[in-house]
Amino acid sequence: MIVTPPDFSPVLEPRDHPAPLTFAFRGDEMLAAEGGFALAGDEACRANGIAPEATVPVGLLGGVYCRAVALPDGAPAAPGYAFRTLRSFFGIVDDGHLAVAFRGKQVAEWARTHRYCGACGSATQRMPGERAMKCAACGHAAYPRVSPAMMVLVKRGADILLARHARGPRWSALAGFLEAGESLEDAIHREVREEVGLEVKDLRYFASQSWPFPHSLMVAFTAEYAVGELRPDIIEIAEARWHAPGDALPELAPPQSVARALIEANLSR
Ligand SMILES: [Zn+2]
Repeated sequence: MIVTPPDFSPVLEPRDHPAPLTFAFRGDEMLAAEGGFALAGDEACRANGIAPEATVPVGLLGGVYCRAVALPDGAPAAPGYAFRTLRSFFGIVDDGHLAVAFRGKQVAEWARTHRYCGACGSATQRMPGERAMKCAACGHAAYPRVSPAMMVLVKRGADILLARHARGPRWSALAGFLEAGESLEDAIHREVREEVGLEVKDLRYFASQSWPFPHSLMVAFTAEYAVGELRPDIIEIAEARWHAPGDALPELAPPQSVARALIEANLSR
């Protein structure tokens, strides 16, 4: 599971560094030298037409200054460089660098989409000492958006409930975004009821993970089955089934995700 490494600290103001790491995004894709990860040094940025002023400070990773930028749709890659999906680096790059890329993607996208005030439309400026964009005209401040989402692995004795989302081939725990006004517990009861027709009890916190597609905070729990008959809603959940100890495992969520950690921690072997 990808978490922020202990040798990372956030930075709000640009730093001078002889060879900064630049995480440059175009949507869900990241720009890197072929066979590499991120852009190392200023020369790589110059080659790709990225001005240091266009980047947003992210932090220090083992003393190396890391910054990020969100490039417009259609931005080209210089010869020797390529855009690749962030997910294509899973398992190839160390998790510490991936965690910083996750953070950089969210910060850069937030900066790109908050250049103007959402209240009055005037240009915004970075607020000194805070991760915020402030409008000089009306005072409105915008902070990076984090969207909480709950994930829950439902257990019944030694069995666990796995579901396959209608959008993909992988099996996972149930998950969904919170609605305004909901607690995590409210969202768990609602989503489990809506997605598979069950009632659950005994919610237990497992772990949380920032997930930059586009800016989720996944908060994972386990819950015990209480009552109801398994009835997937078909629209969001294509299939759901109880996985018993010894059953062959289907294709699961990637090892970098909290979903995989949640499932593996609760598999009876
Ligand atoms: Zn304003």
